[in-house]
Amino acid sequence: MGFFDKIKRAFTGEEQPEEVEVQEKYDKGLEKTRKTFGERMNELFANFRTVDEDFFEELEETLIGADVGFETAIQITEALRQEVKLRNAKKPAEIQNAIIEKLVDLYEEEGINEVNELNIQEDGLTVILFVGVNGVGKTTSIGKLAHQYKNEGKKVLLAAADTFRAGAIDQLVVWGERAGVEVVRGNAGGDPAAVVYDAVERAKNEQVDVLLVDTAGRLQNKVNLMNELEKIKRVIQRELPEAPHETLLVLDATTGQNAMVQAKQFKETTDVTGLVLTKLDGTAKGGIVLAIRNELHLPVKLVGLGEGIDDLEPFEPNDFVVGLFKGLLKEE
Ligand code: GDP
Ligand code: MG
Repeated sequence: MGFFDKIKRAFTGEEQPEEVEVQEKYDKGLEKTRKTFGERMNELFANFRTVDEDFFEELEETLIGADVGFETAIQITEALRQEVKLRNAKKPAEIQNAIIEKLVDLYEEEGINEVNELNIQEDGLTVILFVGVNGVGKTTSIGKLAHQYKNEGKKVLLAAADTFRAGAIDQLVVWGERAGVEVVRGNAGGDPAAVVYDAVERAKNEQVDVLLVDTAGRLQNKVNLMNELEKIKRVIQRELPEAPHETLLVLDATTGQNAMVQAKQFKETTDVTGLVLTKLDGTAKGGIVLAIRNELHLPVKLVGLGEGIDDLEPFEPNDFVVGLFKGLLKEE
């Protein structure tokens, strides 16, 4: 469904119940971003009587403030300048919806060859590796995803390959209990690749559908960490040449530009297939989703919208943008 069809349905109340439910999660999760960003946008529209150069400058700043990224802010402002000429618009109100339209257009253009869905095998085992620095939300996201697949009737297994800290193993075990799925674990300080080997063997023997692998976010240094991830991958590939089916880099949206730096570093050394962007509920800078798409060209596959077991959603650009701009949209 196109973006404006969706908006129309939101306005006329024609949405399906499950659509409403997902949209509500996005609305709630993006509350902070919407408040800050929305307020600034409203001020912008209130303060300018005409669309002039000052207006565009202010708009650019507002977009950068929401962390959409420098290049993206410039691209959108430029596209809007064209639009103003095209429509011969004089008042900001005339282009209010066009800003949102441009954001969605740009998002869709940049992602034309990207796959947003997780690569889940119809038959046989799917292995998903989670990577990312400490504290970004790897373990939590694994717990949430395990819960979802379990509810869909899939057989799920977790591998506690973050053996660097004892607490990390226990934390995954707790999530395993919450989700009602088994966890393969070793000793703290043990070899993560050995845990992964055991988990893959068990997954094969027990006809598991989805194996989710937790990894350490920090070792003695970055080179060690990258070597460890490579070793884990080799162990998986020896047993299943097609796996891992996804290597998901988890990023904390509240860290803004720092998340971008992490993404660049991981992308250089590991074959990241997609992103999990967590804690969108905790930031006023949800625009980072756009920066990631436009500047890194990695698909955001899942977003974390809260700490609860149900607060993980497949990334839906339309729901996201509607959640971001709800108060700003004008019925035309
Ligand atoms: P890890 O070190 O990467 O495994 O990170 P954890 O899974 O341990 O998460 C670190 C903290 O972030 C925990 O307190 C989580 O509850 C919190 N967290 C994870 N995802 C989200 C989210 O989407 N929203 C919020 N608000 N908190 C989250
Ligand atoms: Mg962890």
